[in-house]
Amino acid sequence: MEYLRPLKEQVYSCLRCGICRGDCVIESSGIYEAFCPIYLVKPHDVFTPRGKLMLARAYLEGKTPPEQLIDYVFACTNCNNCTLHCPLAQIPRVDYKTKQVTEARLLDPAKIVEAFKAELFSKGFYPKGLNTLLESGKEKHNVCFEPHEERFSWLPREVKESLPKQAKYVYFVGCLSSYRFTNIAKATVEILEKLDVDYTLIDEWCCGSSFWRIGDFKTAEEMAMHNLKEISRAGAEYIIVSCADSYRALKKDYAEKLKEDLDIKVLHISELLQSFVKENKVKLKKVESVLRVAYHDPCSAAKHVDLYHPPRELLKAIPGIELFEMLHNKKGSFCCGAGGGITYAYPDVALKLSSMRIQEALNIGVKQVISICPLCESSLSKASEALGKPIEVLDLVEVLNQRLERT
Ligand code: SF4
Ligand code: SF4
Repeated sequence: MEYLRPLKEQVYSCLRCGICRGDCVIESSGIYEAFCPIYLVKPHDVFTPRGKLMLARAYLEGKTPPEQLIDYVFACTNCNNCTLHCPLAQIPRVDYKTKQVTEARLLDPAKIVEAFKAELFSKGFYPKGLNTLLESGKEKHNVCFEPHEERFSWLPREVKESLPKQAKYVYFVGCLSSYRFTNIAKATVEILEKLDVDYTLIDEWCCGSSFWRIGDFKTAEEMAMHNLKEISRAGAEYIIVSCADSYRALKKDYAEKLKEDLDIKVLHISELLQSFVKENKVKLKKVESVLRVAYHDPCSAAKHVDLYHPPRELLKAIPGIELFEMLHNKKGSFCCGAGGGITYAYPDVALKLSSMRIQEALNIGVKQVISICPLCESSLSKASEALGKPIEVLDLVEVLNQRLERT
């Protein structure tokens, strides 16, 4: 019980109030309410955060065989909604030895679910749908089952040849942008080139996020240690990311899970660009005709690391773009359905959730949904496609790159 036992006190402190679950009302208007997205698709208490905590308790007491828990525990997108709404998660934990208030919470249900996944995974119990992802991580160091040597195939040769060995910034690309959404990687590099940023790339492996989220902590840690070694070799002060999952991994997981005292700062490209806009170093060209867009908050960057405003501020700074908010937004945002390994293990659940999100965009009459996460882009695009492509899903860097000029 390597992963769950250290959290036993938290598991037992659950009040069973059910606030983390929320109500589950799906109306024909497309308006729905439940804090846990899984509960909307699987409306049984055993799938909710409260239900998962009850199962954790039974597991700790040796009352439940692990093989029967797999689908209940792994059906979690790791959206963090339960932690944001649980009343005990708002109360800091006091260390009674030192009498000091700590940064830890009395109860962090999302963290417990993640640890529960790790606990089952370490004993060989996990959904079979994760096998390809797991093999890919171990053999190829990425989530796409693609050769590691082809990670930078998208990079123009002249840019590759001009990159220095050491630089102030490292651009950490991430797996999906390296192999599937190379438009994001290319747009980011074009922006960095336009703005004369002193950057380089490293021999990166997957950031590890997907593996922490499915409970394979060992693979995630190996990936993180490799990346840290490469970052240190590049002598960088800052890491720039264009992917929400990498942002969370490098900014939060590396420090929390590896307990490393990291001497690097992690910036999402939107944070870097926002500083350029504030200092009037860039100009954003007007769009041809007024464009109504919505911004989708990826859970990993928003609800886990509080990155809500820079992407919105940048969109608002483009003359001609009208930014609208979907019913669920910012801290109350709704998951695209893909996170936590759901897209691999339970693709039908992922599609139902992403379709609900696309419906929210349709409800406010926008034509485009913009985000900062290739996994969200993949999930929301699939849902839009299934509905006859009523919504175009784009990444923020693509929108900005077309309109950004150095002053
Ligand atoms: S996890 Fe928190 S919100 Fe959910 S039932 Fe337990 S105490 Fe209530
Ligand atoms: S993290 Fe999200 S999906 Fe997972 S149990 Fe909590 S609310 Fe449900």
